[in-house]
Amino acid sequence: MASPTKREDNYRHKKLRSDLVQTLREKGIRDEKVLAAIEKIPRHFFLDDAFERIAYEDRAFPIASEQTISQPYTVAFQTQLLDIQKYDRVLEIGTGSFYQSCVLAEMGARTFTIERQQELYQWVEDFFFRSKYPSIKRFFGDGFAGLPTFAPFDKILITAGAPFIPPKLLEQLKVGGLMIIPVGADGSQQMLRVTKLEDGKILEEVMGQFSFVPMLEGTNQKA
Ligand code: SAH
Repeated sequence: MASPTKREDNYRHKKLRSDLVQTLREKGIRDEKVLAAIEKIPRHFFLDDAFERIAYEDRAFPIASEQTISQPYTVAFQTQLLDIQKYDRVLEIGTGSFYQSCVLAEMGARTFTIERQQELYQWVEDFFFRSKYPSIKRFFGDGFAGLPTFAPFDKILITAGAPFIPPKLLEQLKVGGLMIIPVGADGSQQMLRVTKLEDGKILEEVMGQFSFVPMLEGTNQKA
């Protein structure tokens, strides 16, 4: 992964970011607030130095603990589906590189994020860019349990492939709230938009096919 020390964000990086935003527009991303956040956040800070030149290609990259930083299109697509409004209380499962968390915070969401890999949790702890978004609340734990003490949430975002919709997360969603969750087995998931309705019912809509690393039970303490 990237060294946690400060790096520069120069005109060349900014040009690559604006090209990436153009690519995302061409692929159908319309939410201007999502595009503005991606244009602003130096994605190359989140990746290993070896990937600096290609950090702005629209593809996923390996990070520590055999995990990945999601492809920019996937980040943009999930965030667009969340329909983020300023001050929304948002729970993200799968902090990973911390990139998606920063996108949410940049859009004005009150962001809570959980990671099950201690090594990744620690990496973010030491990451210089974290001070840019001091309001993001990070937790080491199992996303299947959510954060009951901080519930309910307006929006819940799962950034790993889930075997099913975790019941505890559904409980922690406000009535009228949205959950964006890729559901399915190994490497192929259906993106679901789940709306919690008034009478305890839920509405599930399939929004496309994606590929994520798996959402796993429990935590991995190996740092
Ligand atoms: N949002 C991340 C994407 C990381 S990939 C980013 O922007 O970089 C998915 C992440 O979900 C991995 O870091 C993985 O360790 C984590 N994960 C998988 N199952 C989890 C669980 N049950 N609870 C919390 N995190 C989990």
